[in-house]
Formats: sequence, C-alpha cells, structure tokens
Amino acid sequence: MYPSIEINLRKIKENASLLLKLCRSSGIEPCAVTKAVCGSLPVAEALVEAGFKQLADSRLENLAGLRKRFAHSVELVLLRLPMLSQCSTVPLFCDISLNSELSTLAMMENYVRESSASHRVILMVDLGDLREGFWPDEMAFVHEAISGFTALKVEGLGVNLTCYGGVIPDQANLSRLVGLKKAWEQQGGQLKTLSGGNSSTVRLLLEKKVPAEINHLRLGESILLGRETIDREAIPGAHLDAFTIRAEVIELKEKPSLPLGTVSQDAFGQTPCFIDRGVHRRAILAVGRQDIDLPLESLHSRLEILGASSDHLIADAVGCPGLKVGDLVEFIPGYGALLKAMTSPYVRKEYVE
Ligand SMILES: *Cc1c(COP(=O)(O)O)cnc(C)c1O
Repeated sequence: MYPSIEINLRKIKENASLLLKLCRSSGIEPCAVTKAVCGSLPVAEALVEAGFKQLADSRLENLAGLRKRFAHSVELVLLRLPMLSQCSTVPLFCDISLNSELSTLAMMENYVRESSASHRVILMVDLGDLREGFWPDEMAFVHEAISGFTALKVEGLGVNLTCYGGVIPDQANLSRLVGLKKAWEQQGGQLKTLSGGNSSTVRLLLEKKVPAEINHLRLGESILLGRETIDREAIPGAHLDAFTIRAEVIELKEKPSLPLGTVSQDAFGQTPCFIDRGVHRRAILAVGRQDIDLPLESLHSRLEILGASSDHLIADAVGCPGLKVGDLVEFIPGYGALLKAMTSPYVRKEYVE
C-alpha cells in the first residue's frame, strides 16, 4: 500500500547518539523532540536507547502516549505553550512545560497545588524571533509576579529561534539569555536549566561557540534528518536518509509544460508560475499535500518535481525513459514532508532496523 514512509530506527539511533555526544562534549544535556514523527513510540524507543533522558513534543496527545510507554523512566517536556483549557491535564502528562503567559502559569499553579502533584516550568524569553516568549525587559516583573507560587517550580529559562522570524542563534543573543539568568538569580532562586534553542543551535555547537552556561537544547530535525537548520547543511557523520517516502506512478504522458487558457489561482490560493519546456514527458504520482509537503528530494536523480496538489505530485520525467505506470519512486523528505507523512493516516508507516 502506497504512499509509504520507511523509518530506519538504526539510523535514527545512530544520529541520536552522535548529537548526544556532540552536546555532552559542550556540557549540554539535550532533549529529543518527537513532534515531527507524531510522537512515534518506536522512534522514541530508539532515542531513549541512544541515551536521551528527556523527550519533548508539542502535543499533549503524543506526550500521553509517551508517558504510557515509558512511565516516569524518562522526563517529558511540552514544547507548545499550554492552552488555558489544558492547564489541569498538562501536569498529568509531562514533567516540564514551556511557558510565557502569567495567566496560564497562575492557573497551572492552582491546579498543581490542589492536586498535590508537581510540575516544572521553563520560562521562554523572546530574543527577537517573534514567536513565543516574554519580552526580556518583562523578566524582573515576571519574577515578582510568580514569587508567591508554591507548587510550580521554575526550572529555568529558554529561547526559541529560527522558527518564525528566522533569527539565527549567535553568541550575542545566547549571551543575553545567560545575562537574564544571572539577573533572575540575583532577584532570588536558582535556575537549573538554560535551554538555548532547537536544531538551529547545532551549527554554533559544531563551532564550539555555545556559551558555557547553556546546558540544554531541544533537538528534533537535526536528529531525524541529520542536518542543522540554518542552511540545512549535513551534520558530519549523520545519516541524511533515515526516512524514505515511496509513491507510485499513476500517469505518464507527453504534455505541454505551459497550461492552456487563462491562469488564475491554484487549489491553494497561490498563483502558479510555469517555465516553458515545450511538450515534455510528465509523471503523476499518487501522493499529495495530504501526505507530504515540498521540498522533497527525489532519489530518482533525473525525476524533477514540478509541484503538488492535494493528492497528486507532478514531475518532469524527461530524464527517466525507463519509468512506467506502476513504478515506485523514492524520496527523502524535508521537515515539512516528514511532519505530514508521519501525521497523515494515508501514509503507511514501515519501520526497519
Ligand atoms: C519544534 C520545537 C523544537 C525542535 O525544533 P527542531 O528544529 O526540530 O530541532 C524545539 N523547541 C520548540 C519550542 C519547538 O516547538
């Protein structure tokens, strides 16, 4: 049954070991992020076997599955800020959550105090990427505002970069995080964790330029796809092909490369742009945006992906004279394609060792 995604657990485990070693050589104990694989238990097992002691995901549903599988033998981290409506369940399914709203923190504090459970929080600081986080000059006020908390424990501070604004982690912005930790501790209380970002910090890590006080990272893509995420450069020694997507050719015809008639928006509201290649051989594959996203790297070196709609992938097959209807074509997913393939119920998951 196709499309399928093959998940090579040995390669994931080897990548996980490699990144863990790299982190530990800089005094960092990272968590492994499972959200791009939809909290997959076989993948999580490979990560834990490689030595990760903390797993992180953005969805409580995935964390619930991980808690059931690992009980309390690994620590679980919620990456997305809790919804107010989740405040009573967050402490049940994870040990640590990332937070940036005082109202949410206050509500969780109440739930945790009443249930005599325990929960730790990492306070996110926005150092310019403009996704989540308290603005740095709010931190003194935040410290005061939560000084009366008795149940929630502030585990540390964290930053997320290169997600929305595309801001690159560097010694300047990570040093600001270090400065905020020192200021926090001067106001009172020790912070155990300083979480210096996601896979986009790996490049700085390879250059041994992460400030010494940063002792935590949250790594997803770098482990799964073997690349840092600033320029998507390969991490030396990592497997880049732990995942393979397979899809079947369902049409193969000579067609013009320019649409006939007046072109308006495509199915996704984008105005498409076509290059005139004359009449050419085109393949349609039975896989689409319900299953994958672009970019997708074709392992059939001469097959060039032109575009995708909900259920169809269109490719230029001029360089593939041997290709025929019914053939399988293999692809290496990018991050978006991996996320969708693992989440889509239409894509068969095939685990190999
Ligand atoms: C997704 C996510 C990560 C992991 O990002 P990668 O680029 O896959 O390493 C880390 N932190 C937060 C808050 C996230 O949402």
